[in-house]
Amino acid sequence: MEGAALGPRPPASVRVNDREYRWPREPLIVVCLDGSSFEYIREAIEAGAAPFLASLAERGLVRMVDAAMPTFTNPNNVSIVTGVPPARHGICGNFFLDRETGQAVMMNDARFLRADTILAAFSAAGAKVAAITAKDKLRQLLGAGLTGVCASAEQEGQPVYSAQLSEHVLRRGVELARTLKPDLMYLSTSDYVQHTYEPGSADANRFYAAVDGHLAALDASGAALVVTADHGMRAKTDARGCARIVFLQTLLDEAFGREAARVILPITDPYVAHHGSLGAFATVYVAAAEQVHAMIQRLGLASGIDLILRREAACDVFELPPDRIGDIVVCADRDTVLGARAADHDLGALHGPLRSHGGLAEREVPMLFNRRLEAAPARRMKNYDAFWMGLNGLAR
Ligand SMILES: [Zn+2]
Repeated sequence: MEGAALGPRPPASVRVNDREYRWPREPLIVVCLDGSSFEYIREAIEAGAAPFLASLAERGLVRMVDAAMPTFTNPNNVSIVTGVPPARHGICGNFFLDRETGQAVMMNDARFLRADTILAAFSAAGAKVAAITAKDKLRQLLGAGLTGVCASAEQEGQPVYSAQLSEHVLRRGVELARTLKPDLMYLSTSDYVQHTYEPGSADANRFYAAVDGHLAALDASGAALVVTADHGMRAKTDARGCARIVFLQTLLDEAFGREAARVILPITDPYVAHHGSLGAFATVYVAAAEQVHAMIQRLGLASGIDLILRREAACDVFELPPDRIGDIVVCADRDTVLGARAADHDLGALHGPLRSHGGLAEREVPMLFNRRLEAAPARRMKNYDAFWMGLNGLAR
């Protein structure tokens, strides 16, 4: 019997987190170019360094989309592979505060994930699935429930602070696209280059030239391709090149006393040479609820702050999980980052002038396709529509 030899027939579609995804009619590769604001791509195209990306732009296959908030790496990578925002999947940063114990808890573990990944659901339904990430911190979250290939370039021996780490991810992807030919593949790079070099610089263009070559090879494998980013990246320095930082914990300690509030910076991770734990998004846990209002007013007097919201409003507007967010959410403006106390941040560890992300200024990112668009979600497109677009939105 032909049917028996081929195994069970795949379903027409797979439902994941209340979204319906068509079974792939051809291999689909989703690439997340970490920290790639459109400026990096535009500059590389203008310099003649990225002919493949230029060809997509010429064919009109580029859209500007919104990243999930906060515009950090893990919340957005997890949003992309689950197709839903942090309110649904639970990963809203690298840390949250456990109010019971008073301990900052790291969320890099799959047990904090509250939603299925599209990768896991398709692998359970019989699809061949692969995921390659740059840093190992993401591998566990992306690999949750996944049967198939799941590896990180860091685990495979590549140096963390290097362009090589990202190039390794893409090279592995090209290799897999040619040999294993996964039905669904997710490739996620690191933002070392973007934290270190500005758009249009020789080093950035050199990196995007390498990326462009790998993307062209992925395209040549015959797969449908969706390329997006987890967040943008901006210089966070003044005219003299000094980092512009609002030290929130110091500010609140001075105004309300040392035990009144606890500032959590969800960008904090072991890779401090990228950003010194300084990002544009912070959340404040307040000891006495009646002080929330006064603290919001005090924070409103500081310069360099874009937005201050109570938890309920922030969760509503930014689709965040209320139990993993403090009483107050603070976003720094486009030129500024948020810190706790000066002593908590080792600016000497940074590899260059501070470039970072996390707020609204780093929210808009590009999404590029190698097929014509046939459909799109009925709202402004998000980066976490990447798999939906790849499976439901592209012409063959
Ligand atoms: Zn990132």
